[in-house]
Amino acid sequence: MAKKIKVKGDAGHGASDPGAIGPTGKKEKDFNLTMALKLEELFKNHPSIDFSLTRRTDVFLELKQRVKIANSQPADLFISIHANAASSSANGTETFYNRTTSAPLAGVIQRHMQAATGFKDRGARYGNFAVIRDTKMDAVLLEVGFISNPEEEKKLFQDDFQNRVALAIAQGICEYLGVPFDIQTPTLPGQEPVKATPYPEMSVTVHTAAGSTYTGYNVKDTTWVPSRPIGELIGGRIGYTKGKVTINGEAVETMNINGVGYVTARDLTKLLGARIFWDKATPSKVEIYPKN
Ligand SMILES: [Zn+2]
Repeated sequence: MAKKIKVKGDAGHGASDPGAIGPTGKKEKDFNLTMALKLEELFKNHPSIDFSLTRRTDVFLELKQRVKIANSQPADLFISIHANAASSSANGTETFYNRTTSAPLAGVIQRHMQAATGFKDRGARYGNFAVIRDTKMDAVLLEVGFISNPEEEKKLFQDDFQNRVALAIAQGICEYLGVPFDIQTPTLPGQEPVKATPYPEMSVTVHTAAGSTYTGYNVKDTTWVPSRPIGELIGGRIGYTKGKVTINGEAVETMNINGVGYVTARDLTKLLGARIFWDKATPSKVEIYPKN
């Protein structure tokens, strides 16, 4: 059996170190641990990922102990979970990396996590934190939201919010590692079963003077196509805001895959008048023509 990829999750703070404290008295250490345990649950029985935690209970670990645990295994990835604090108006989701080799991991997780929180996108950025600086593997520190912000504090402690964000982080990890977010992955209580990732690939041909062929995906009978090249080829104005692609200024359903925003063929028809043809004989092929 192939060796599993070791991912080490790290719930920041613990025990006598509560981390940041929210306006209603909620403690960052509790949020961090809850999220870490949800991630552990999501990866339980994953065929190719061995996910474990630096702490599973409300205990305190020195930063250097956390680093030592990760380096001595050694883990392949290190994910430290935190909530942010600043003024009560500060808001948003951000992901820190220290070494530039960890930046791609930070980018992928930030994209998934931010979309799930719906908070402001503060981006993936450099940060000088011991747990991501002194660990030897690709390492990131997630600041899911601001516990010091009353609205974000409230959401950070809602179970459905936590489930959605944990799932997004797990999907980010899988995307980065290039492993499917496997159907065997158990679901969290109250959550819809997770569908297997393999989005059957389709060939998407755009018929314009500059037309060419792209890769799209078919997920549950919906055709997803890369928004920018195709939208622009057929005369649309493509933008991006708050994790969603915009077509002529209107935000549409978006799926992010490997850093590319995909939109549904349906929305290209609705907003740009695209004419779309699926070849019944070759369901993996779709032809797109601009509006007459
Ligand atoms: Zn923290």
